[in-house]
Amino acid sequence: MPESHDTCVRCREAEVSGPLSLCADCSVETKDECSSGLIRLGQYLAAWAAFDEWLRRRGRGQTV
Ligand SMILES: [Zn+2]
Repeated sequence: MPESHDTCVRCREAEVSGPLSLCADCSVETKDECSSGLIRLGQYLAAWAAFDEWLRRRGRGQTV
């Protein structure tokens, strides 16, 4: 049976309305987690780019 979204999908306590089904507090926390996740993803990809550059300087890696 589908779950009702009348309460926040994160804390399951606060009443919510709107497409996100998150209360105001959980919206802020979720946004912060997404932001820090994107920062970590950027750092991860930058590390791979630096590694690829390191390989390229040694005549390895992709030549695209
Ligand atoms: Zn909540």
